[in-house]
Amino acid sequence: MLNLVLFGPPGAGKGTQSHKLIEKYGLIHLSTGDLLRSEIAQGTALGLEAKKLMDDGKLVPDEVVIGMISHKLDTNRDAKGFIFDGFPRTVAQAEALDALLESKNVHISSMIALEVDDEELERRLLLRGRDSGRPDDANPDVIRKRIKEYNDKTTPVATFYKNQNKFTSVNGIGSKEEIFDSIEAVTEAL
Ligand code: ADP
Repeated sequence: MLNLVLFGPPGAGKGTQSHKLIEKYGLIHLSTGDLLRSEIAQGTALGLEAKKLMDDGKLVPDEVVIGMISHKLDTNRDAKGFIFDGFPRTVAQAEALDALLESKNVHISSMIALEVDDEELERRLLLRGRDSGRPDDANPDVIRKRIKEYNDKTTPVATFYKNQNKFTSVNGIGSKEEIFDSIEAVTEAL
């Protein structure tokens, strides 16, 4: 199985590159952001709770996203592999993911990090906010809070995979194709 964690700050391009990887390798895309937005769209209790935190630039509780991922792993037992996009976002989530995969006797193949500086991120997110209608992309204060949450809680997740010798980073600035070529090179070398 090919199980990739696509890593990087908000606006790094994880969603775009995930879609290219899916096309190429036939993997299942697991984006916790998309799963949460779908709960919000359906008006579930979980969605209502999550929306308050997301609109404020904060992470939703670990148990909530771990539960969603666990459910998706169970309902896709025959998958060739998965792309984890926006998850794990805390060390507790990374530990829970290892335990979930271990129980199915599969493992993370690699974490691929997209490197993009803060100034470029802010620019991309504001641009995306104009068309996507995502409330968390429209407001500079919320964007800065999300980048801060990332720096405080999510960057340690890279160390978690470095310690397992599963970490690689690629330049996240350039055309979508150039970035995909770098990701592909990492994937082919696995
Ligand atoms: P981005 O990476 O561009 O911020 P996402 O769609 O991945 O966008 O996430 C949007 C919001 O959803 C986050 O700011 C956070 O509130 C919530 N979220 C998504 N994934 C997680 C996660 N794994 N843990 C906690 N919160 C999450």
